[in-house]
Amino acid sequence: MSFGIPSGAKYILQTLAGAGYEAYLVGGCVRDLLRGASPHDWDICTSARPEESKACFAGRRVLETGMRHGSITVPVDGRSYEITTYRAEGPYSDSRRPDYVRFVSSLEADLARRDFTMNAIAMGLDSGLQDPFNGRKDIENGVIRCVGQPDRRFREDGLRIMRALRFAAVLGFEIEAQTARAIHESRATLGRVAAERINAELRGLLAGQHVGDILRQYPDVLCQFWPPLTPPAAPGQDNPRPCRDEWEHTVQAVNAAPPCVELRLALLLHDIGKSACKPADKSEIGRLHGRPDAQLADQMLRALKFDHKTRERVAALIECYDERLPPQGPAIRRLLSRLGAERFFQLLEVRRADILARACGHTDIRLMELDEIKRIAEEAVAQGQCLTLRDLAVNGRDVIAAGVAPGPAVGRVLKGLLEQVLNGDAPNEREALLELIARAQPPFENSSGSGKSAVWAR
Ligand code: ATP
Ligand code: MG
Repeated sequence: MSFGIPSGAKYILQTLAGAGYEAYLVGGCVRDLLRGASPHDWDICTSARPEESKACFAGRRVLETGMRHGSITVPVDGRSYEITTYRAEGPYSDSRRPDYVRFVSSLEADLARRDFTMNAIAMGLDSGLQDPFNGRKDIENGVIRCVGQPDRRFREDGLRIMRALRFAAVLGFEIEAQTARAIHESRATLGRVAAERINAELRGLLAGQHVGDILRQYPDVLCQFWPPLTPPAAPGQDNPRPCRDEWEHTVQAVNAAPPCVELRLALLLHDIGKSACKPADKSEIGRLHGRPDAQLADQMLRALKFDHKTRERVAALIECYDERLPPQGPAIRRLLSRLGAERFFQLLEVRRADILARACGHTDIRLMELDEIKRIAEEAVAQGQCLTLRDLAVNGRDVIAAGVAPGPAVGRVLKGLLEQVLNGDAPNEREALLELIARAQPPFENSSGSGKSAVWAR
């Protein structure tokens, strides 16, 4: 069974065992090994108390990452191993964290505090699997099931609801019926979970290959922290809800997009102003009902502590969501110029997902058109075609030298030149552009913009 276990993990397990303690791999790494995937982190649980674990690695660098909760971290060969003492958790009075943790001597007690059966399996180097909750069978069947009573486990820690959805979206596992029912019924406990923790799980969920299934089955959970998403299926609400088809379209579009959180957030929220309903409670988000999509989306992302960059990009994508995309060079270059290459290509991805989700009969033609737009845009970028003022073969000094009074008129002239170049009406060559400026006289001094020439028409 030691296949796939890094030598650093073996060294730690052997060192603890050599000192007379029990030690096992546990949690996500065991789950991933059993389903044939590569673990991205390695957790070890042990009967040794934190000071005892520390003493086992005297002479090595040991990080005291969570002594109070029983954890130390030992880096070996460039990997970090978290070693945690068997522990049980006291009662949860705030649905966030246990009132206290207590070190215990039984592995089974430690496994019992873990969230799902698939995450409650221990693997020893010699002693094989310890699997008191039949997690292995659940992994084989692709099932997410709470350890213990689901409603109690979700009331203890509301984040487990989001973890269940995230695991389901990423692994493509089914959430077992009682666990699923408890998720719906206990979703209000999410209200007591820190926004940052929800954020991390939501990002994972959105990047999951099976995100569509989860959005379809658990929209009520998302509405718990984002009331404006109020879905068509939410029971017992007197809201003017978006029709089922609209929600289904959104779900399919999110699922069809590449697994990029920004793109998927833009697709999830792009129609939010239209479909926003009376919120279920009087939260801050609820009061924003009726604002334009991008602003409302920004407020929702802000409430969930999304970083500035993500918020800005999502709002920008929503703002240009309905932009016309004619498959002709000038129009493409103008849009590339206005949005910038990165946003332009993101918009194409968003559009592709939208088309795939509509499947309205002209899908192939529309996708081919999108491919053509992408090809033209990629070519423009690869050839270094002029797309911004900075790319123009003349600059402000040239314009002033040609007789335009310094001031706003200079910018207008440059913009007019750029427009002509983007449209293919003028080459981006210095002589030709200087000639255009010269022909556009008189009078440049007129900064009111009333000059008649197309050069400064805008
Ligand atoms: P991944 O790291 O792939 O996201 P993981 O299962 O390793 O998945 P971690 O957050 O690294 O998740 O947690 C390690 C282990 O700790 C879990 O496998 C689980 O046994 C336990 N665990 C983590 N969070 C909780 C929680 N909120 N409630 C109960 N057990 C938890
Ligand atoms: Mg992990």
